[in-house]
Amino acid sequence: MPDYGHPLRFGTFIQPSSQQPDLTVSLAQLSEQLGYDLVTFQDHPYQPAYLDTWTLMTWVAARTERIAIASNVLNLPLRPPAVIARSAASLDLLAAGRFELGLGAGGFWDAIEAMGGRRLSPGQAVDALDEAIEVIRGLWAAGEPAPTRIDGTYYQLRGAKRGPAPAHDIPIWIGAYKPRILRLTGRKGDGWLPSLPYLKPGDLQAGNQVIDEAARAAGRDPAEIRRLLNISGSFSPASRGLLNGPPEQWVDDLLPLILQDGMSTLIVMADDPDLMQTFAEQVMPPLREAVEKDRASRGQAAGPVRSAAVLARRRDGIDYDGLPASLAEVAVEPGDFGYSRVRSTYMRGGAPGLVLRVTSVAQVIDALAFARDQEGVPMSVRSGGHGVSGRSTNDGGIIIDVAALNAIEILDEATRRVRIGPGARWMDVAAALAPHGWAISSGDYGGVGVGGLATAGGIGWLAREHGLTIDHLRSAQIVLADGTLAAASPQQNPDLFWAIRGAGANFGIVTSFEFEADEVGDIGFAQLAFDASDTAGFFERWGAAVEAAPREVSSEVIFGPPRGGQPPIAQVMVAVDAADADTVLDRLQPLAQIAPLLGSDARITSYAAVMANASPDPHQGHGDPAARSGLIRHITPEFAAAIEKLMASGVVYFFQIRSVGGAVADVPADATAFGTRDANFAVVAFGADRARLDKAWEEIYPHFRGLYLSFETDTRAERLGDAFPGPTLERLRTLKRRYDPGNVFRDNFNIAPSPTLG
Ligand SMILES: Cc1cc2nc3c(=O)[nH]c(=O)nc-3n(C[C@H](O)[C@H](O)[C@H](O)COP(=O)(O)OP(=O)(O)OC[C@H]3O[C@@H](n4cnc5c(N)ncnc54)[C@H](O)[C@@H]3O)c2cc1C
Repeated sequence: MPDYGHPLRFGTFIQPSSQQPDLTVSLAQLSEQLGYDLVTFQDHPYQPAYLDTWTLMTWVAARTERIAIASNVLNLPLRPPAVIARSAASLDLLAAGRFELGLGAGGFWDAIEAMGGRRLSPGQAVDALDEAIEVIRGLWAAGEPAPTRIDGTYYQLRGAKRGPAPAHDIPIWIGAYKPRILRLTGRKGDGWLPSLPYLKPGDLQAGNQVIDEAARAAGRDPAEIRRLLNISGSFSPASRGLLNGPPEQWVDDLLPLILQDGMSTLIVMADDPDLMQTFAEQVMPPLREAVEKDRASRGQAAGPVRSAAVLARRRDGIDYDGLPASLAEVAVEPGDFGYSRVRSTYMRGGAPGLVLRVTSVAQVIDALAFARDQEGVPMSVRSGGHGVSGRSTNDGGIIIDVAALNAIEILDEATRRVRIGPGARWMDVAAALAPHGWAISSGDYGGVGVGGLATAGGIGWLAREHGLTIDHLRSAQIVLADGTLAAASPQQNPDLFWAIRGAGANFGIVTSFEFEADEVGDIGFAQLAFDASDTAGFFERWGAAVEAAPREVSSEVIFGPPRGGQPPIAQVMVAVDAADADTVLDRLQPLAQIAPLLGSDARITSYAAVMANASPDPHQGHGDPAARSGLIRHITPEFAAAIEKLMASGVVYFFQIRSVGGAVADVPADATAFGTRDANFAVVAFGADRARLDKAWEEIYPHFRGLYLSFETDTRAERLGDAFPGPTLERLRTLKRRYDPGNVFRDNFNIAPSPTLG
């Protein structure tokens, strides 16, 4: 007899009484407090004694935090499935992935007809449910390009727009008793949800058999279908039959239902707080223990059960079955719900074989150990997924995604110490620090993650006044190649602390950063559009104006190919770290005069408002970006002419220069691994064709005195020499040998370990 191996769950079934709505809600809250996994509600829209189930579930979702909420089961005939799809996805999004959908074909047809519903025969009702599932799943599939078209007997969709996608893969559990609907459950359901009081002995086994056969006939693994059971009884002191006796008897009665009949979710039908409490305290724990023990003795792992279709998409070389239990819940495979949200990065399309969305340092360590054991399989580390140069996605490999490690904590008001997880995004950091009147110099884009930027450099709106992001780092916690968690600071592992400020990706996975923020109040921010027909002259004058400006001015220029009939337009952004309008205007003046001004916008605003410029949508990168980077001291006439020539070649579709210098150059060149401190400008060019870009870049390349790794996609070994001056690279190689001798962190700009320890 089957144990399908699903993690054991417990729920409550609360009467949605309209007489005492507060009591209904408080019983749901009690379920959460008592440790139940889900709270469920029946749905009888024709019944005035009951609250409307959707409204109630939404209310309960808002009044609880952890517990899942499910319909048990939803009345299909009175609810159009397209609307069910939208309601379910909406509630799931609002409740952060806590909604689950129990669905029924209908009953009480007189009452349904009285409410304007259509009476169906039992067979018709099952066919309608079959179509409804297609409608619901079709609308949830927001990633599919075409609108939903379903030409059913009962439901027709004629190009309905898909979406919203729910927050998680909402399972559809079917309330079923008869063979036809059991077969549908096997073919299409994610769960079977009958009620024990309506079953005769042997019905569970027979039902499982029908479901399993239908599942196999549809090419599914029967284990894909969770088995849930509504149960009821009483805790009478003496045994009076099934589930009517002391708690120990309940344990004895329920254990065979779990281990032999495969029922892995038990839902207690009771509105009695005492019964709910007794069950939670005296039945759930021994049942969990007994099931865990039994499964361990049989070597059966509990975790999400993947469909045959998902298993078929597994990639070679990854020992999926060997994934430690601690990572089962955070693993996303090709074909899993949510894979499309994690496969790619902002700029690069990816097809990884396994994404581990870790939520704790312990999981980072487990994930790294697992990835290390998969010989020849690429491994990427991802924080915010905005890497241009890094490889935070791959093809067929493993990704350790630390986006969930995104806490931002103020440690000390007096010293402005802040601890930040690598998964936080810079717009969130700026927003969290703004109320304190603080900011940390970061890049120009709010969507960029802390992990990638704070291990590479960090050139942004405050660079000339406040330096690089890494210049504010005071310590970090990092998981090293051998799995140890190390502290890096001037006092602890100072060499490592030096290395991760510029070459962090080669040394481990940083799990938290401690920064010292600066006091930054409101700032001036301007966007100026120029006619850059005299392209070389424009760049030369912009460079000179930036270099002549006081440090509170940082600027950036973006230039692209001219659009049909228009003169070439350069967009200049200027941040002035001053809140006084006169000072801001005074600083902007020289920059506004470098070329014919076509448009301008200037305001006093907060750093957080400037950084709030990114979308929270999942990354949808395609292809493989080609970008080249260079650091340069001055925009000389020769370099400006080279820019003009490069842009005229048509090879570059996006050209950008950020100001550096100022406070960045105050830090001694050998204080951090960041390569070149004495440049005043960081240049980046994106091209559609890598070979043509590389060729065109050869001409401009001699002007540079280094490059910034974050904007370089040419990973040839000689680029390392451009990124790190000789002695820096030597020291990095020696440290790499000490901290990562096996070169575990190599899918990047790889610093090969030195052959000797130095
Ligand atoms: C639109 C856009 C704007 C940008 N603007 C700027 C800018 O103004 N200034 C600037 O300096 N840069 C800028 N960048 C570049 C950006 O800083 C880098 O690409 C940075 O690495 C992205 O960090 P991430 O965490 O988002 O990226 P991810 O793609 O997650 O990571 C990039 C690489 O960093 C490494 N890494 C990530 N997390 C960790 C970790 N926790 N521990 C160790 N290594 C890790 C990995 O090697 C990874 O491949 C920009 C990039 C984009 C796409």
